Amino acid sequence: MDDIIIVGAGIGGLALALALHAAGIPCRIFESAAEIRPIGVGINLLPHATRELASLGLEAELTKIAIATADATFFNRFGQLIYQEPLGRAAGYEHPQFSIHRGDLQLVLLDAFLARAGRDRLHTSHHCIGVEQDQSGVSVHFSDAPGGADRGSIRGRVAIACDGINSAVRKQFFPGEGEPRYSGVNMWRGVTRWKPMLSGASMVRAGWLSHGKMVIYPIRHASEADGLQLINWVAEIETPVYRKRDWNRPGSIDDFIGAFADWHFDWLDVPSFIRAADRVLEFPMVDQDPLPRWSFGRITLLGDAAHPMVPRGSNGAGQAILDARALTSALLENGDAVAALAAYQKQRLEATTRIVLTNRTNPPDAILREVFERTHDKPFGAIEDVISRDELVALSEGYKRIAGYSKEALRG
Ligand SMILES: Cc1cc2nc3c(=O)[nH]c(=O)nc-3n(C[C@H](O)[C@H](O)[C@H](O)COP(=O)(O)OP(=O)(O)OC[C@H]3O[C@@H](n4cnc5c(N)ncnc54)[C@H](O)[C@@H]3O)c2cc1C
Repeated sequence: MDDIIIVGAGIGGLALALALHAAGIPCRIFESAAEIRPIGVGINLLPHATRELASLGLEAELTKIAIATADATFFNRFGQLIYQEPLGRAAGYEHPQFSIHRGDLQLVLLDAFLARAGRDRLHTSHHCIGVEQDQSGVSVHFSDAPGGADRGSIRGRVAIACDGINSAVRKQFFPGEGEPRYSGVNMWRGVTRWKPMLSGASMVRAGWLSHGKMVIYPIRHASEADGLQLINWVAEIETPVYRKRDWNRPGSIDDFIGAFADWHFDWLDVPSFIRAADRVLEFPMVDQDPLPRWSFGRITLLGDAAHPMVPRGSNGAGQAILDARALTSALLENGDAVAALAAYQKQRLEATTRIVLTNRTNPPDAILREVFERTHDKPFGAIEDVISRDELVALSEGYKRIAGYSKEALRG
């Protein structure tokens, strides 16, 4: 009864469970899936998020699996270099930027939680269908799967909805919210085993959305057997028709490879790289308008359930991890659970709203848009004639400040 009930064992739910456990606050996780399997493709963790994971004692484990991203490198669709800057430790941060398979990250978090808190603290096949509260606590109602048989209710002190972009709890509090906001860009995502490219730890962004943009970065170390890394890629193309979002929807290479047919660069032959993919998934680039509130008495939202954002700033998983830290601190500082959830909302809602809105307008790839527009999509002679180094740095640093990971912010 005194437990905190966490709904969802994704990145946010597991990070929260680990932070609460470390703070001596008892919690239990209830996950819809029958089994936690390492699904998804690549994600990035910026230094403000890896700082939190380091404080949970996970940096060494993550270093074994993830790539410590060394640089961000921007090209136009003709393969001309626009801008390069160091990232993570290479840029002087105390903590690394990690590029990692989402499933690898989820399993590191899961294994740590099971080892530290015990297997009986995770309940799979518990799909949340609603939450109620009274003066003394919450009752969370479950079925055994989406649309499945009733599993009854669990009592707890508070309930934290970490149930992702299709959050059942968010829908309960905002029933009229409607469909997500489609950005007009569809994404095809995949992973390819390939030899290391550029620095071997580069995060590449190339092209522009109207003609096809690629984001490419390695997420697993080179295998000793063949020297190949697992390399994540996302092809992003303006596409008028919205196709429903589902993380596991298979995509077809023929639907998008035409945009990259002549991308033959000295550092990568893009069409061959795409064709060599293990698997291709498709996902519309969507978000939702920021909410006016997340906390309702003893119930609150966290991670994608609270602030789904378009994935253009490497921030989705990281912001869920920062939410987890803020909520844990609020619960430690406030004896009253309702006051704690209100304090958490106060600290995080405005900060994440700024990121959701900036990801729509000026994420890091605004650098590509600027050059695309100024050159009218033609090759340039010298980049300095198109855009100054100072302007490029200002675009990049502006996003870091808004997303909360400028070096000054992390020194504080
Ligand atoms: C299968 C999957 C694949 C993904 N792949 C990518 C990717 O390749 N790249 C990327 O950038 N992001 C991906 N994401 C999203 C990314 O993990 C999140 O944007 C980010 O990490 C924030 O995490 P979160 O914990 O808020 O949400 P998520 O990591 O999405 O976790 C939500 C969890 O809640 C569970 N859940 C959902 N509904 C219920 C319910 N009603 N009751 C109980 N549990 C529920 C889900 O099964 C999941 O485990 C993926 C998410 C999922 C679920």
